[in-house]
Amino acid sequence: MDENLTITIGDVEQFSIVDFPNKIAAVAFLQGCPWRCPFCYNTSLQKIGAQPESDWTFEKFIAFLKKRRNVLDGVVFSGGEPLVHDGLYQAISVVKGLGYAVGLHTGGYRPEALSKVLPLLDWVGFDIKAPLEKERYKQITGGMADVQKVKESLALLIQSGVDFECRTTCDPRMLSKEDIYLIAETLQKAGVKKYFIQKYRPVPTDKSTTDSMCADLVEDEKLRAYLKKSFEVFEVRK
Ligand code: SF4
Repeated sequence: MDENLTITIGDVEQFSIVDFPNKIAAVAFLQGCPWRCPFCYNTSLQKIGAQPESDWTFEKFIAFLKKRRNVLDGVVFSGGEPLVHDGLYQAISVVKGLGYAVGLHTGGYRPEALSKVLPLLDWVGFDIKAPLEKERYKQITGGMADVQKVKESLALLIQSGVDFECRTTCDPRMLSKEDIYLIAETLQKAGVKKYFIQKYRPVPTDKSTTDSMCADLVEDEKLRAYLKKSFEVFEVRK
C-alpha cells in the first residue's frame, strides 16, 4: 500500500442496503468535515485531523473488502466530508482495483477534489442543504459553506454523466416548505433527475422540535405532487 495514501476512516458500516442504490455496500465514514449543520448525526466525525474513535485504518478496510467480495458489490465513501481528503483519489483507485463499484456521499465542498475523483465513481449522493443562495448556505452550515463551490460541484457532477441523486434533510428549524419549492425549482432547471427529501430526526441536543413538525415538512400533499412532477425520480425518506 502506498505510504503517502492519506485518508482517515472514522468508522465503517460493514453491510448496508440503503447507502448505495441497487448495491450491497460497505460504507467508510471518513473523518473530518468543515461544515457544522445543526442536524448532523456524525458530530464525532466533524473535526478535521482528529484521531478517530474506531480502530479502522485504510489497510484494515482493504483487508476486510478482500474477504467480502462474495457478499458485497459496492463501497461508499461517506463522512464527514470525503472531499476533505487529498488521498481520496488513490483510496478509490485501490477499492476499484478490487472490483467494487464505488459511490460517494458529498455536499460538494471542494469542486477541484470532486472533478479529480468523478471519473472513478459509479454513483454520487449529493446533499443539498438549503436554497442555493450565499446567506442560506452559510446559515445552515454554521457559517462555513461557500455556495459558489457547491454550485460548481453540482455543475461538474451533472456534466460528468455519472449517476447521482440530490437529497435534502428537511429540518424545520432551518427550512420551510417554500425553501423546498425553491431548491426543487433550481435543481430541476439545472437538469437534476433524481431528488429525495429526508425527514429530519431530531438530534439529541434538539429538545424542541416535535415529530409532527418534522412530518409536516415532508408530508405536505401539494409539495409532494410538485416534486413528483418536477423529477423523474422523487421519494420521501423517513
Ligand atoms: S456536511 Fe454532513 S458531516 Fe458535515 S456537518 Fe453537515 S451533516 Fe455533518
